[in-house]
Amino acid sequence: MNLDFDVIVVGGGLAGAGLAVGLRATGLKIAVIEANEQGAGARRDTRAYAISPANQKFLSALSIWQHLDTDSVTGVCAMRVFGDAGGAISFSADEAGLAQLAWIVEAGALQAELWATLKRQHNVTLFNPQSVSTLSFDHSGAALTLADGQRLRGRLVVGADGVKSWVRERVGIEARVTAYGETAIVASLRCSRAHRGVAWQWFVDGTVLALLPLPDNHVSMVWSVPDERANELLALEPDWLVARVMEICGDALGALAPAGPTTSFPLRMMRVEEVVRPRLALIGDAAHAVHPLSGHGINLGLQDAQVLADALTALPAWRDPGELAVLRGYARARAEEPLLLQFTTHALQRLFGTRNPFVSALRNTGMNLTERLPVIKSALVRYAAGGRF
Ligand SMILES: Cc1cc2nc3c(=O)[nH]c(=O)nc-3n(C[C@H](O)[C@H](O)[C@H](O)COP(=O)(O)OP(=O)(O)OC[C@H]3O[C@@H](n4cnc5c(N)ncnc54)[C@H](O)[C@@H]3O)c2cc1C
Repeated sequence: MNLDFDVIVVGGGLAGAGLAVGLRATGLKIAVIEANEQGAGARRDTRAYAISPANQKFLSALSIWQHLDTDSVTGVCAMRVFGDAGGAISFSADEAGLAQLAWIVEAGALQAELWATLKRQHNVTLFNPQSVSTLSFDHSGAALTLADGQRLRGRLVVGADGVKSWVRERVGIEARVTAYGETAIVASLRCSRAHRGVAWQWFVDGTVLALLPLPDNHVSMVWSVPDERANELLALEPDWLVARVMEICGDALGALAPAGPTTSFPLRMMRVEEVVRPRLALIGDAAHAVHPLSGHGINLGLQDAQVLADALTALPAWRDPGELAVLRGYARARAEEPLLLQFTTHALQRLFGTRNPFVSALRNTGMNLTERLPVIKSALVRYAAGGRF
């Protein structure tokens, strides 16, 4: 027997869960298939994300933001960025006329809140833990078989299953992956000096070190490092790793101490030629991956979720959610932003990844010049905040 749905979302990460919650006010019948056990498991994600004001609004509209523990959210009121030869630039929310530049949110807390909402949502059926074994399409819909043999049919399948998307591979959409040969080392650190809501970033020696403010005078460290060096750093005892971090950040935040496990993630950029086909849409990292130095990966994914949810919510009941014309509208609306971010973060990664002294002088001078141009700085901040200049 087939279980029939209007929308089948494969992958219940932040993008997939965000889409399903975004469809709460529709009459659509939704299935969410997630391989990893969610709920308590989600809390184990130690990453902290910089959530843009545009996505804070989206999550507020979904009543997710209001329910996050206050001790999992920190407002960023300023950002200080340093080059490797005296370059420096700072951004402040005040200067740009914003309440906050962004919010740092613990990934696990956000995921857990989205899942708590999904579990209560009347038009959602969760298949978890569960994965898909087969996927095929015909003129009237898609047919999926789950690992336990259950058979599902849907009018639209959404691949929200991350950068190595099974759905994308299964339908033969080619992904062009640029591996940076870098690893992000992620850890939570305690600092002895108050961070006052400032996010810090250092571009030093071909690496990018970010310290993002967390509650209770902690910071989330994301240190993007060439693979070979990352292996050495990951082999160190936590105290020694922190000592290496302090060689870069000095006493900007006072003495730092490890405050949790260290994890690591390979860094890559990934592009696809198509994000929609008849009865299929890709969202989140399944559709695009960017270097985390921009702090925008999940911001892109949540915006995909919002745009697709809005498009499906606006459809009259007689329209088919898997219609290509509907999906093309989503693809058009989301064509520019991921590409622009991939281009700029890739260029920044290349600009700061080289040790060429001429390029080093250029990038540090560029930073200092931008620092003296308030109009450009405000435009950059507004773009980061809302996705628009
Ligand atoms: C070190 C690091 C730091 C980052 N920092 C930031 C930041 O500050 N700000 C930011 O915006 N972004 C950041 N990012 C990027 C961010 O992590 C990703 O963009 C985000 O996780 C993508 O979400 P997603 O829901 O698209 O995919 P994922 O988080 O990968 O979720 C995909 C889900 O699909 C499930 N799944 C996979 N295959 C299947 C299958 N076959 N069947 C069923 N389920 C399946 C997985 O279990 C998973 O839950 C960072 C990334 C890294 C590596």
